[in-house]
Amino acid sequence: MKEIDELKSRAIGLADSLKEELHEIARYLKENPEIGFSEFKATELITKKLRDHGFEISFPLRDIPTSFIAAHKGKVPRAKIAFMLEYDALPDIGHGCGHNLIGAMGYLAAVVSSKLELPAEIAAVGCPGEENFGGKVVMASEGLFDRYDVAMLVHPATETGVFSTSNALDAIEFVYHGKEAHAAGCPEKGVNALDAVILLFNGINALREHVTSDVRIHGIIAEGGKAANVVPAKAVARFYFRAAEREYLNEVVRKAHNIAQGAAMMTGAELEWNNYERSNDNFVANKPLSEVFKENLVHLGETNIRPPKEGFGSTDAGNVSHRVPTIHPYIAICDKDEFTSHTREFADHTVSDRALDKALLAAKAMILTAIDLAYDTSKLENIKKAFEGQRS
Ligand SMILES: [Zn+2]
Repeated sequence: MKEIDELKSRAIGLADSLKEELHEIARYLKENPEIGFSEFKATELITKKLRDHGFEISFPLRDIPTSFIAAHKGKVPRAKIAFMLEYDALPDIGHGCGHNLIGAMGYLAAVVSSKLELPAEIAAVGCPGEENFGGKVVMASEGLFDRYDVAMLVHPATETGVFSTSNALDAIEFVYHGKEAHAAGCPEKGVNALDAVILLFNGINALREHVTSDVRIHGIIAEGGKAANVVPAKAVARFYFRAAEREYLNEVVRKAHNIAQGAAMMTGAELEWNNYERSNDNFVANKPLSEVFKENLVHLGETNIRPPKEGFGSTDAGNVSHRVPTIHPYIAICDKDEFTSHTREFADHTVSDRALDKALLAAKAMILTAIDLAYDTSKLENIKKAFEGQRS
């Protein structure tokens, strides 16, 4: 359709003319990294700029200090579109996951889409604390995404990929309480909590052999005693358990709990356990929405798109994907073997010309996708149908 093509060209021009704003946000966040739920500088800058562009801001949302919704309600909205912005950094490493670019891309996508006067409601949804805090878990469970027809964000990566999955995740802490004693003088009076943790690791390593291949289990000993000559009275292990489906993950965690109880019985230590971070649901990418995004990415000249792939990590966007049709594609900002994410090198690279150009391209693909959804009702219908199928 000629009108849509013209509108898309206009959108691309507009995005180009505003790209300095994308650069500004990416650089400012990179220079001022803030960990989850304390992204005050990031949200101050982004919400101020969105307000200047005429967005109506709700900030903060409920009792999450650094989450916001910036809304632009178009005339007769046919589609309600949420661009998700992330902006949290990793402790010590800064923006080694590139969330500064996620914030900048979502910002530009929302601003440009709002200026096109689409028959759509456009929202920039500020999602804090993706790393370790599960900000979107809280936001999704509070129903903050339910009013939207779709939600999307693009994540910087070492490969471009549109369709992917991610594992459900439970973060569990096992705390054993034993009894102190002189380790040489009267060991028979002690109950060794560290032994319980070691038995727990051994039991879990045996379990590893008998789970499906999507399962990932990794743990650390967070506390294991204070001195070699004192029987450890307290020991703590922390594990991440992940699996492709929530139901199966629950089964794996049940088995791990049995192992943990077994370790307590073998040593006489007492066991407490808790979820020390918010759980993530597995991510389900909406297929028809992924297709629309991919067509636009190709239209913009991105050629090297990897085939669909299962992901074994986890994201709090998983929880959003069970509430509304969602995509979480990846854009390559470097060559595959050049950097790995969650490193300082990757953080430095996020503000290179190459990374910023790629972020601009991905933001444009989101904008063109918004145009398609606003004008082509059959696309939106297919997206909703696929979502209903996914739920049943
Ligand atoms: Zn990330």
